[in-house]
Amino acid sequence: MTKLTPETRAGLKSRSRLVHAGRDVSEQHGFINMPAWRGSTVVFPTVEALKGRGARYTYGTKGTPSSEALEGAWSEISGAETTVLAPTGLAAITLALMTALAAGDHVLVSDSAYGPTRHFCDTVLRRFGVETQYYDPCVGADIGALMRSSTKAVLVEAPGSQSFEMQDVPAIAAVARARGACLIMDNTWATPLFFPPHERGVDLAIEAGTKYLSGHSDLLMGLVSANAAWAKRLRHTFDAFAMCAGPDDIFLALRGLRTMELRLREAERQGLALARWFAARPEVKGVLHPALPTHPGHAIWKRDFLGSSGLFSIILEPVSEKAVAAFLDGLELFGMGYSWGGFESLVIPFDCSTYRTATKWSPGGPALRFQVGLEDMGDLTADLERGFERLRAASVS
Ligand SMILES: *Cc1c(COP(=O)(O)O)cnc(C)c1O
Repeated sequence: MTKLTPETRAGLKSRSRLVHAGRDVSEQHGFINMPAWRGSTVVFPTVEALKGRGARYTYGTKGTPSSEALEGAWSEISGAETTVLAPTGLAAITLALMTALAAGDHVLVSDSAYGPTRHFCDTVLRRFGVETQYYDPCVGADIGALMRSSTKAVLVEAPGSQSFEMQDVPAIAAVARARGACLIMDNTWATPLFFPPHERGVDLAIEAGTKYLSGHSDLLMGLVSANAAWAKRLRHTFDAFAMCAGPDDIFLALRGLRTMELRLREAERQGLALARWFAARPEVKGVLHPALPTHPGHAIWKRDFLGSSGLFSIILEPVSEKAVAAFLDGLELFGMGYSWGGFESLVIPFDCSTYRTATKWSPGGPALRFQVGLEDMGDLTADLERGFERLRAASVS
């Protein structure tokens, strides 16, 4: 076997990249996988070397072969200049915000952003003198009307957490760039495989690797990738915080990377099948899945995304809380829990009206978010069918 030339590597399709990125068997004694490099101290042979700073590795927080392998692989599949690894997805979000903002700045955050992102903005960023303004996720190019001279960052998330609004990222990117603001995107739902963030104008892209990169609900990880304009500042901020991912999580994430596209394509197939099944149910008022033509953001999804993943929401026809609980409590294949992207199916009830400030959330019925796993679709729908029987029984009693 010959080492991949840079030319061959550049022409590889994403599936081949995922197999080969971040691996060099000639440096691993021929073994396929890189071991987990654990380490704090790196020793230097001479004073000269210690002071010279020419060494490839100098200390655990400054990078290891493991962290460099995953960072390099992620940059390759994201079309990024650089990537840094954080211990959680939320840590990646806070790192991106701290990279772009300083005291006195104003930041525009989508009203549909991941809840803990809002919490960080409303507490820590506020304490450090950064003002957060929430905006309607469907604002598009009109974001310009909300921008001030102090607006230094805009945060988008597409589709929105729980509520699945689609954002016109290229339009917002064009306005942000013209005004000199950093465009930050939480790209966890699509991953770079289904939404190439930097090609679409995003400066700092966040991925909760906890979800599809892991794929097995057994690790926490966050990644921030940057384009050329923001790479240096991201790296400086990362070095200052030294919020590093652990070696075993990196090892597992590299393992997950190899099958990420296969799992995502299956999640897409299963997600669409389940979404369509729900759409045909009389108990269901609406399905919030951007790849369905009935979704208000479908045209944007079709234009900008290369696929959809296995997370979506439904709105039930109005029923009592008791009936919803009867539906959920008796499910045997759907676990009730946070997070997603693993092999197992999950569901959570949610209510965005408790935290939204820029837009009104009134879907007209109870809302449920589903993550579809790898189980047989017939088994999943049979479980849900029994759930709907319980829901109907509890509604009439
Ligand atoms: C889960 C999630 C995160 C946070 O990831 P953690 O690793 O759980 O901190 C961030 N953004 C989105 C959209 C998520 O779904």
